[in-house]
Amino acid sequence: MRTLITGGTLVGPLGAAPTDVLVDGETVAALLAPPAALGASARGAAGGGPAASGAGRPAVDADRVIDATGKYVIPGGVDVHTHMELPFGGTAASDTFATGSAAAAWGGTTTIVDFAVQRTGEVVEEGLAAWHAKAEGQCAIDYGFHMIMGGVDEAALKAMDSLVAHEGVTSFKLFMAYPGVFFSDDGQILRAMQRAADSGATIMMHAENGLAIDVLVAQALARGDTDPIHHGLTRPSALEGEATHRASVLAQVAGNPPLYFVHLSASEALGVVSAARAAGRNVFAETCPQYLYLSLEEHLGAPGFEGAKYVASPPLRTNTAPHADDLWRGLRTDDLAVVSTDHCPFCLKEQKELGRGDFSKIPNGIGTVEHRIDLIYQGVVTGKISLQRWVETCATTPARMFGLYPRKGVIAPGSDADIVVYDPNATTTISAATHHMNLDHSAWEGFEIAGKVDTVLSRGSVVVSGGQFSGRAGHGRYVPRGLSQYLR
Ligand SMILES: [Zn+2]
Repeated sequence: MRTLITGGTLVGPLGAAPTDVLVDGETVAALLAPPAALGASARGAAGGGPAASGAGRPAVDADRVIDATGKYVIPGGVDVHTHMELPFGGTAASDTFATGSAAAAWGGTTTIVDFAVQRTGEVVEEGLAAWHAKAEGQCAIDYGFHMIMGGVDEAALKAMDSLVAHEGVTSFKLFMAYPGVFFSDDGQILRAMQRAADSGATIMMHAENGLAIDVLVAQALARGDTDPIHHGLTRPSALEGEATHRASVLAQVAGNPPLYFVHLSASEALGVVSAARAAGRNVFAETCPQYLYLSLEEHLGAPGFEGAKYVASPPLRTNTAPHADDLWRGLRTDDLAVVSTDHCPFCLKEQKELGRGDFSKIPNGIGTVEHRIDLIYQGVVTGKISLQRWVETCATTPARMFGLYPRKGVIAPGSDADIVVYDPNATTTISAATHHMNLDHSAWEGFEIAGKVDTVLSRGSVVVSGGQFSGRAGHGRYVPRGLSQYLR
């Protein structure tokens, strides 16, 4: 099957230009100058040659033509931070790999990297096998895994090497938060970082000082402060900044493995990352749409139990300090390299409700996997980031950061034909009534989006077109990953 995507503007990290894309089977076969451009240059050329006949490009033989006139043609989104079916707080994230990956496709994301989990006392390889079992045959788009390390001991350290060498899992997430669940102490973190420095693996860090936070949480509950907003007030941004700094120092002592801060939310933390990067260190960070658009006061502090929808960690930050502005600046300067979602949806009914009367029992997470491309495109519309930077932060850089490039993250000959046709002239209104995530509310309810995902191809197959989903569970394959391509 050969597919020609014609008439669109191809956007990549190097720029935007009118380009046709020929897909053959599952991969990109060629990038072609559009017939009109060829014709024009031929007419302008003195003398001409066989190719400059004035008739434009030779006809391209294709079984299917997708008209992208007036639209952007971008590489499919790569969301490197999702938690499908994650067990948390006595329940599990409400999207399965089937529903969550389909919702991702609807939103123009064609690869997810989810987190397999080893809890304290469990065996790493068994955790990875359990996540493979959940995802296999279920995904509408391609997927990979990071490994959450909930217990760094000798066996886990050995497993890190084996996962890098044999399983295509090259990144390991550690938690400075959640004592008793995922928490690693500084000694465990140092040992894992040393191991990563040897193997080239990436350490992903949830940087919040969980021991201090637990004290503040207990004090708040003892005072009777039980509403959702206290989730945010007991996790101050200073404790994200502190943990970010501590992790950065530990990585330096450990020999500078690639260190990637997940869901960076606070100016203090960004300052640490900027300084480390200015010093030439292997330090990187992502942020998520919720920290760019939502706030502690307006959302987490919404009346009644409404704020429960916005409980995630790190929490939404105050709008009385310039956190969000700083994050947008970080995206421009590349101190924030990636936008991911930390997609971890919990329904209000029977899930978020577990924390009525005790904010500490509200399952942590916001569902965004369907909306990332749209939400970050709004930064282009408002002039905060360039068109290229949109593609870079949502597709190209995450692919390179986690060893998926150039198979993913770029439209180039030989790359997987994961392609989104994006219509900048259409509009979308986000609502739980129309989204495709398995979630009974939306943190983005009523958000007006300038732009719309028009057509989505996953490895050459059309999975979304004309408002219809034509993908299927099981089309998506596991993608083993190489090392980060940003190693110094
Ligand atoms: Zn997460």
